[in-house]
This record gives sequence, C-alpha cells and structure tokens, in this order.
Amino acid sequence: MQFSDVKGQEKAIHILQRAIQNRHIAHAYLFTGPEGVGKKKTALALAQYLNCAAADTAHFSSCEHCPSCIQSVSGSQPDLILLEPDGSSIKIEQIRSLLSKVSLRNYENTYKVIIINDAHLMTEQAANCLLKTLEEPTDNTVFILITAQVQNLPVTILSRCQQIPFHLLPPSIIQDILQELHPERQSQIGLVTALAKGSVSTAETLLANEEIASARQDFYSLLIRLPQVSPAQIIGWCEQWDKNKKMVKSLLELGQLWYHDVLMVNTSGQMTLLVNQDYLAPLKSQTIEPQQLLHILQYFQTAMAQLESNASPRLVMEVVLLKTRTAVTV
Ligand SMILES: [Zn+2]
Repeated sequence: MQFSDVKGQEKAIHILQRAIQNRHIAHAYLFTGPEGVGKKKTALALAQYLNCAAADTAHFSSCEHCPSCIQSVSGSQPDLILLEPDGSSIKIEQIRSLLSKVSLRNYENTYKVIIINDAHLMTEQAANCLLKTLEEPTDNTVFILITAQVQNLPVTILSRCQQIPFHLLPPSIIQDILQELHPERQSQIGLVTALAKGSVSTAETLLANEEIASARQDFYSLLIRLPQVSPAQIIGWCEQWDKNKKMVKSLLELGQLWYHDVLMVNTSGQMTLLVNQDYLAPLKSQTIEPQQLLHILQYFQTAMAQLESNASPRLVMEVVLLKTRTAVTV
C-alpha cells in the first residue's frame, strides 16, 4: 500500500509525512473519522513505508520490491501486526498476545507497527492492558489505533495518542475510486456515489447489495406509473415495508434522487448530471411541473424527518406516496 493509493486525505497524510521527514514519528497515533474513507489504507501505507529498504524518500513511496514490501503486501511482514476485533469486541487476550510480540527485541532500524482497527471495540480490560504499554513506549514501535467512534474510547487512551482526523470524501473522489474498481458498473456509479455520503465502504456495500438493487427497481417502476396507481394499490405496496426502517430510509433517499433527476431533466436538460443514469428514458418521460416537483421533494424531506423521529416506516411511506401521487396527477 502506498500513500498515493489513498485519495482525498492529503491533510492527514501530510502530517504523517512531515513526521517521517523530521524523524518525529509518534509512538501512538489515533486515526479518527467516518467509516470507509482511507484510515486503514493510510495505516498500512505508513507501516510499509517505515520498513521499506529502498523507499523513495523524495516522494514518500515504498519500493514494492524489497523483502519487507513484498511481505507487507502479502500480510506476512513480522513487524507489521494488524489486530481486528474478534466478533463484536477486542478482548484482553488479544491485546496480551499482541503485546508479547511487541516486547520482542527489534532489529536495528526497523519499526514494529501495530495497527488496531475499530479500537473503540476494546473491552475495558483490553484498553487498560494496552494503556500500560502506551504509557511506556518502546523505541521504534508505532501504535496506530483506528476508530470511527472516537467518543467511545477511554480518555486515558486518547491522551496517549496523537490524533489524526480523516474526513468524508467529496463525490468526485468517490466516483473516481469506484470507476477504477468497478468499470463494469458505470451506469450505477453516479447513484451509488450520491447515496454513499462520502464513504467508499458505504458505496461498495450499496454496489454489492442485491436487496437494495431489487427494491430500487421495484420502487422506481412504481414511481414511473404513479399517476395510474390507485391509493389502495399504494397502501398494498407499502405493506412489505412494515417496520423495515432501514429499507424505507434507503427508499426515501432514492425517491429524493429520483425526483431531483426529474427536476433536472425538466429544467436544465443536462443528462450527464443525472444520478440515475440507468433510467434515462423513463426520467425523460416524466412530465411534472417544476413547482410540483419542489413540493414532492419537500414531502420526501418531511418523511425522512418523521422516520428519524420514529414514526412507523410503513405509514411514512404510505403518506409520502399518496401525497406524491396527488401532486403528479393534478
Ligand atoms: Zn520496499
């Protein structure tokens, strides 16, 4: 992994590279920020770089050929330890076994890098056990704790780490990453980027989620023929979402994106800006007055707020669809 493989986190990476340059690498870092924005990638890039035998120091890139780089890439570099939660927590036994490896003497000029992913899942005992080591740092040992829930880490741990914040990614970067990873899904990338809200891992989950894909297809086919659908049919269709808050939330987001696209088609005609690129023809066939579209978008926003304040998902869906139906049939 290279620093250049991490997109959109220039600030965080700059802090680390400056530390490398000044030989002021901290004993413990805490990478904080939302899921799926490059924290673990950055940790792996730093670990690989620190032990690369032929690094390009001018560009902060690892050579990819030396034994350490080859082992880092294959996950067998003995000085790079990546600890993940065992089930729903990181247990004291995991930390103990980790620390026994850390205490082994280091070869000269090499770094031991310990990455603890989802560090907020450490049990209290695990955190206390780790704390002792963080308080007495060993030379050439770097701990990198990663978390998306910094508020759930003990203050004692926080105070021992240098915090490096990571941020949500702008849509253009998510789009670039997805285009590189999934060129065959071109027509869905715009939509997934819009739903991902700045997180590559959310985007990946959405791309892989067949359930959402099929619900979306079903929902859009309902929206397309909404003027011809009776209120009784709408109520019948909503039955399947009884108590399914998660899916109704996704559908409400999809509905907003749908009518936003219709608005774009009706006002600017800029087809390249549409999110639902795989629905161009049906979107063009939707003739709804811009004024009505603004009302509809408002209905979806209200529905989202109601869902958040724990209204019944099915009822929220019924109301928004019935109101939308009235708006598109006038
Ligand atoms: Zn190397």
